[in-house]
Amino acid sequence: MQKKSIVSNNIKKAIAILSNNDVVAIPTETVYGLAGNIFSQEAILKIYKVKQRPSFNPLIVHVDSIQKATELASSFPEKAKQLANAFWPGSLTLVLNKSDHIPNWITADKETVGIRIPNHPVALALLKELPFPLAAPSANPSNRISPTKSSHVASYFQDSIEMVLEGGECKNGIESTIVGFENNEPVLYRLGSIAIEDIERVIGKIQIKNKKEITPNAPGMLSKHYSPLTKTYLVDNVNEFIKNINGKKIGVLSFNNSKLSVEVDHIEVLSKTGDLSEATAKLYSALHKLDSLNLDIIVSERLPETGLGKSINDRLERAAK
Ligand code: AMP
Ligand code: MG
Repeated sequence: MQKKSIVSNNIKKAIAILSNNDVVAIPTETVYGLAGNIFSQEAILKIYKVKQRPSFNPLIVHVDSIQKATELASSFPEKAKQLANAFWPGSLTLVLNKSDHIPNWITADKETVGIRIPNHPVALALLKELPFPLAAPSANPSNRISPTKSSHVASYFQDSIEMVLEGGECKNGIESTIVGFENNEPVLYRLGSIAIEDIERVIGKIQIKNKKEITPNAPGMLSKHYSPLTKTYLVDNVNEFIKNINGKKIGVLSFNNSKLSVEVDHIEVLSKTGDLSEATAKLYSALHKLDSLNLDIIVSERLPETGLGKSINDRLERAAK
């Protein structure tokens, strides 16, 4: 007998499950998140268990208003306020000193907390109804490809969670950009859905600490992450790379070119018109698709190192580790 799908539109049911110390996968504009009440240790432990997430990797707290966000932090630097006003609701996470009432199980014992207001109507409607904020790391097993559709989540967690709240395809398609503060100066910890250039337009030059070597305790930067199970390569020139490969089933992830000089088994094109926002939105879906085709290798093309191209290249580098 086929098992009933865990995907549902029923917000009331999601509220009931979340209010009962359990977890629900929810849509956001970045990726689907595996959500739980930040004040319920039971719910948070379940998130870590279901995702097999290392306990040292802190969770981002989601709220629906700047007022609620302010209550989570013990201080809110001026540049953080400027960023919040410019980008919330949106794909920016601010790492700030935490208020006393934030449990340590959210922050992996750090004195800081990551905060975000997601820009998705379903997530906002849910957060508005709930009397507590939601922790919601991406709804995938640790290190695997993040989900941008409810079906991606269901295929990972059909047997381990009760419900995925349907919210359509994630519009932005990769994780939030993370900005924290060191000695009152802004630092970019993770490249993401908001391009660095857009952040810098608001607060000026920002230091980038996106590499594990620089910030070993910020695990969103684990060098291997966001990975297909199929062996993946990141190359500057796909045609050059594949012409020397024989006897393998090859899948290609191309930025904007569907015509290759060598025949391959499957091509996913991120944006025919070379639009970086469209490419970002399609990235994980294309990787999920390629990973489902029983290929021997996936060869992905490096994108232009500008705007969201930098964020996509960051994810592809980690997928190819
Ligand atoms: P995600 O799996 O997309 O929810 O990623 C959460 C990421 O946010 C973590 O891996 C960290 O890199 C970052 N993060 C969350 N909270 C903190 C914090 N308190 N301090 C530093 N980084 C944080
Ligand atoms: Mg994640």
